[in-house]
Amino acid sequence: MFKKILIPNRGEIAVRIIKACSELGIKSAVVYSQFDKNSLHVRTADEAYCIMSDKPNEAYLNHSKIIELAIKIKADAIHPGYGFLSENAKFIESLEKTGISFIGPTSHSVKIMGNKTEARKLMSMHGVPIVPGSLEAVKNLEEAVEIGESIGYPIMLKASAGGGGKGMRLVKNRDELESSFENASNEVEKAFGSRDVFIEKYILNPKHIEVQILADQQGNTVHLFERECSIQRRHQKIIEESPSPSIDDNTRKKLTQAAVKAAKISGYRNAGTIEFLVDSGMNFYFLEMNTRLQVEHPVTEAVTGIDIVKEQIKIAAGNKLSYRQNQIKINAHALECRICSEDGNRDFSPSTGKILHHRMPSGAGIRIDRGIDLHSDITIYYDSLLSKVITWGKDRGEALARMKRALNEYQIAGVVTNIPVCKWILKHNKFIDASYSINFINDEFQPNTPDKWQQNTPEEYVRAASVLAAIIKRKRITFVPAANCHTNWSRIEENE
Ligand code: ADP
Repeated sequence: MFKKILIPNRGEIAVRIIKACSELGIKSAVVYSQFDKNSLHVRTADEAYCIMSDKPNEAYLNHSKIIELAIKIKADAIHPGYGFLSENAKFIESLEKTGISFIGPTSHSVKIMGNKTEARKLMSMHGVPIVPGSLEAVKNLEEAVEIGESIGYPIMLKASAGGGGKGMRLVKNRDELESSFENASNEVEKAFGSRDVFIEKYILNPKHIEVQILADQQGNTVHLFERECSIQRRHQKIIEESPSPSIDDNTRKKLTQAAVKAAKISGYRNAGTIEFLVDSGMNFYFLEMNTRLQVEHPVTEAVTGIDIVKEQIKIAAGNKLSYRQNQIKINAHALECRICSEDGNRDFSPSTGKILHHRMPSGAGIRIDRGIDLHSDITIYYDSLLSKVITWGKDRGEALARMKRALNEYQIAGVVTNIPVCKWILKHNKFIDASYSINFINDEFQPNTPDKWQQNTPEEYVRAASVLAAIIKRKRITFVPAANCHTNWSRIEENE
């Protein structure tokens, strides 16, 4: 087994990986930027190394400095987490030359599956259903028009190298295609360094359902069932759950079989996720494979009892999978809410500041994965994910009741968070009866209508007052309560 793992990442995922290392008796080391010197991951790891740069992301992205550091501190493996270097084939290739293990797939798999058109080609060759559209990057407008006519509008223009919900454009008709094709190519070139765009049919009101897989180096591949991830804003997930309340056992069987096949035909190893769109007729289409740990992996851990991060580490160290497929069962129902510093009233724009108060929910069936602490600075430099609340129970009703309790108990002050938005979603009929699609937020959420989605109950005002009292006790502060005050106060200023 490895003796020391370097984690070139930050936030909740770095802390999550440190915990897995600690349980396996492995030393953890992290890197950090000077903007992150007070971060939780720096204080939690066994060792922390600053990579100085005036660019906030450099510490987590500089290939040569990170590999140099790994050699210097005698780390025998690197766990990339998600984002940053996790899907960077060049980085993995450089690491492969050093003998230091990458806790993830080979650079070859990342190259194939990281490119959406390559992955689509491979899947369609082996009979895994893909969203109808082009198999290659589209060469010019004429070809785009031809494809548009043949599959029918609306269509989506997508960047072959895209990710993170970016580089996608909905095109409703031929006129729109003619006016936007060139702009789309220019835009994706700026964002991803390649002009390649391809076309997919726009699936009307589908669900986004994905399957977690694990594969060892001996050729064994298993699935850990599915996650429902349809609740999204700007193509980014907010609430995930497992199992999906939208599919029957027959569809579940077909989906999970297709996912295992997708992993096998790409020679995949370690943890990965196959994403599908599922339409109202239960037809499913391969969307893409994420060749890394997903943000939402804890819901799968909660229902299967399998620690995915520890499995990843063991697989990278050469161990066989600890589980056979018939030993993996759905034992519970789990939900995850991503708690982000985002303002629902301002088009989910990021909110920055210092965390002045943070009291997390606790009790049966609740897990919190967090990257923040009291006094953490939330800056514009990094993504807005503060923590994840995961709840589980014997069925969906119990998991949901626990999530509602957890969000009511969650106290945070200093930045605006999306907790009120999450609470609004959980109470919505379409969430309760699972009749939502990926367009739920677009269709249903109306910002700047506090009466509709931010109704504060008397209990919530009492809770807000107690948060404030706790802060006042701890520090001398001035505060300016907002008109529609909530437990996550936006305008609290600390007196130095
Ligand atoms: P990314 O890699 O940037 O996350 P994906 O291809 O995984 O992009 O798509 C992200 C989200 O965009 C999906 O979850 C879905 O909500 C929406 N989407 C993508 N492709 C389509 C499509 N062909 N039809 C309808 N919605 C789509």
